[in-house]
Amino acid sequence: MEMQKDANINKVVRQHLQMDEFFTGGFGIKGQKNMSDQAEQKESTINSSAELEKVADEVCRCRECDLGSSRTNAVPGEGNPNARIMFIGEAPGADEDAQGRPFVGRAGKLLDKIITACGLKRSDVFIANILKCRPPENRDPRAEEIISCFPYLQRQIELINPEIIVALGAPAARTLLNTNKSIGQLRGQFHEYYAGLGRPPIKLMPTYHTAYLLRNYSQENRQRVWEDMKKVLAELGLPIP
Ligand code: URA
Repeated sequence: MEMQKDANINKVVRQHLQMDEFFTGGFGIKGQKNMSDQAEQKESTINSSAELEKVADEVCRCRECDLGSSRTNAVPGEGNPNARIMFIGEAPGADEDAQGRPFVGRAGKLLDKIITACGLKRSDVFIANILKCRPPENRDPRAEEIISCFPYLQRQIELINPEIIVALGAPAARTLLNTNKSIGQLRGQFHEYYAGLGRPPIKLMPTYHTAYLLRNYSQENRQRVWEDMKKVLAELGLPIP
């Protein structure tokens, strides 16, 4: 049964990769070189997809904190298993809780616009949150919730191994950088996410959360987020539209 499921996942991932290459020239596939490198890369993408699926299954069964009993759906995260950019937000809201998918409400629509403005598609990147379940009334995440949920995100980051993490808002940036600094102090420059013993750190760009942007929709704030994203694109050697 498990093998059958893995085979199905592998088939889906292979199809995704073929489509992705056809439409995007392979943006999501890191550092393409020759045919054997590509074959190796595909094999590793298939493996990490299956592992990401396992993380998602565990998240959907998780009861580590009280949010496990108040949620409608867990929201493990979604996107390209071989993404170069990973966006990490705070926690699911009402729309995400209803659909089991990250950033699908108003803040998500704005994130989609930012991704498109960068010349990318949602399927090029991976989108996740610090908390996988919605806190009631969208209250701030509690320390004990972050502590019990964080290992899922750590595993996702390890499997995807993005070149850049974009931390959306203070809770994401502070958790990932283990700091108490404000988002105003943190944004606009690259920091390093400690990816674990023996692994190189991952560049992390904090920027304003799209929900904050919606509440404070000034030209200045939009410009700040765009400046942050331009730095991300430049760092990846991607054209700035
Ligand atoms: N805000 C977040 O931080 N995450 C979502 O998935 C949606 C809104």
